[in-house]
Amino acid sequence: MSLDVAYSLEIEDFIDADKAYEFYWSGLITNKKAFICPGDNCNAQVTCANIDEETHNMRVVPHFRVYGDHGENCEVFNKVPLKILEVITSEGNNDKKSVDLSVVDSFFLTRPDSYYDVKDKKNNIEEDVSEKRSYKSKSIEYNIKQTGFISSIYSVRTTVSRFLRYSADRTVGNRIINISGSSIPYPSFFKLIWEQDFESLPDHSLIYYGWAYVDRHENGYKVKFKKRLKNKLGVLLPVTLFIGDKLIEKYPIKKLVTKRISSISSMSKPTAFVFIYGKPRLYKSPTTSKEYINFDLYNLDMVDVNKDSPMPKKK
Ligand SMILES: [Zn+2]
Repeated sequence: MSLDVAYSLEIEDFIDADKAYEFYWSGLITNKKAFICPGDNCNAQVTCANIDEETHNMRVVPHFRVYGDHGENCEVFNKVPLKILEVITSEGNNDKKSVDLSVVDSFFLTRPDSYYDVKDKKNNIEEDVSEKRSYKSKSIEYNIKQTGFISSIYSVRTTVSRFLRYSADRTVGNRIINISGSSIPYPSFFKLIWEQDFESLPDHSLIYYGWAYVDRHENGYKVKFKKRLKNKLGVLLPVTLFIGDKLIEKYPIKKLVTKRISSISSMSKPTAFVFIYGKPRLYKSPTTSKEYINFDLYNLDMVDVNKDSPMPKKK
């Protein structure tokens, strides 16, 4: 059976699979088997599958899998709500109404400063893990309901990963993403770039995606989508974004980004399947009067670059 949350022996905190993935690629977690069941007094061994995969697609979404035997009082084993989730909820913002919105994820445009903070690790591995178990970070908020859980998302990569997971378990039609106070159904939060009229695009930001060419420039990578967007006169304009080296350098999960981009760059014709959160903007070159459309990128969490399309195949 799969779990939404597990206890990380390395971080010494409860964590969801998407956060475990980010912690693995930022170096805070090194062993995909160093998790245990989140149940009360349960030491069943848990593995975070696919945590070490640089790519993601329908088959390699990170998730927890239980290998050991559960304790007899374990809530997971007894199929009752986890006590720890109640503790986390009450330590969180006590947002009572969110219990009824258990299929909602909240997408934030910036991470809390404490996101990558991990309390000092102790080395007393001999100590009984069940006694060490504690809830440490205040940044995660989980709410419990049999049908699902709520959590905060800070990256386009995680949003894509959730979309794939919900598509795989066929709940995507009921899933909502909340962003800056607006609720958007998951499927309409993603927009394929496909020669639409630029003027007809929504006013709010969305995740735009599609195949793109990736070219190395002096200070970073230029991404140009293969499909273009139309201006008022019906002229197709190129759609671009720039991923600067400086942005990559200061990103906590840069190992993941550099590994993905370098494997793409090594191809003879580098192309990637790119997701970008934002609102495209129309630019006109002052010298040539040529128009083009660009996405501004200030935060690497807002872009996801893949070697292949992870999107489910449409019938
Ligand atoms: Zn258990």
